[in-house]
Amino acid sequence: MSLFQNARFHITVNHLKDLPDTGAEIAFAGRSNAGKSSALNTMANRTRLAFVSKTPGRTQHINYFDLDQNRFLVDLPGYGYAQVPEAVRTHWVALLGRYLQTRQPLIGLLLIMDARHPLKDLDWAMLDFFRTTGKPVHILLSKSDKLNQQEKQETLRKVRAALQDRPEISVQLFSSLKKQGITEVEAVVERWFAHHAEEQASLQRGIEAARDEAAEGDEVADS
Ligand code: GDP
Repeated sequence: MSLFQNARFHITVNHLKDLPDTGAEIAFAGRSNAGKSSALNTMANRTRLAFVSKTPGRTQHINYFDLDQNRFLVDLPGYGYAQVPEAVRTHWVALLGRYLQTRQPLIGLLLIMDARHPLKDLDWAMLDFFRTTGKPVHILLSKSDKLNQQEKQETLRKVRAALQDRPEISVQLFSSLKKQGITEVEAVVERWFAHHAEEQASLQRGIEAARDEAAEGDEVADS
């Protein structure tokens, strides 16, 4: 069974100060209507998993889904709603920027973009906010079923070319409608979690080795 199939709704958060304690989390971000909820549902194979994020009044909130005790998916508020006033929009982008730049358990970002309209200004803003962290980004070019074969290849080529100086960013096509691209994104997410787990284990080994060394030092001093 894939990792995502265990995803369950965990908590909704309204303020950055209320973010839960998590071992490691991967965030989903994207312009509103990019297909973020559909992608989350498709990956988890559940039609109503991200329904909570669509409930009126909750669209500006951060929703957590757990995969197990230590691993979480985070559904960030969609950005770029045409209907909201500029000041509100700016506020959301600033909030998302702060989360992306400062959230320590965040290990990677999945950025959803409509394959027909990739890399809009606010997408670049998200990528720039995240760049300072050095953490990886994986872009899902969503609704790829709306493109023909040639358009798909051309879109992939253009987006990769635009990001050629950003080796931490990878890109793929994705279609919730056709259930295409799921294995590819799962492999990326599993790799990120596995890499994080290895880093934590290595850190732990370092701490234990330092502790043992300090204890040996104490014994020598005592003798
Ligand atoms: P969100 O605002 O980013 O969460 O976007 P949604 O997941 O709600 O999708 C926005 C619209 O795009 C909805 O009408 C979806 O049915 C449609 N949509 C989402 N994913 C796909 C897809 O893979 N293919 C097609 N053709 N439409 C999609």
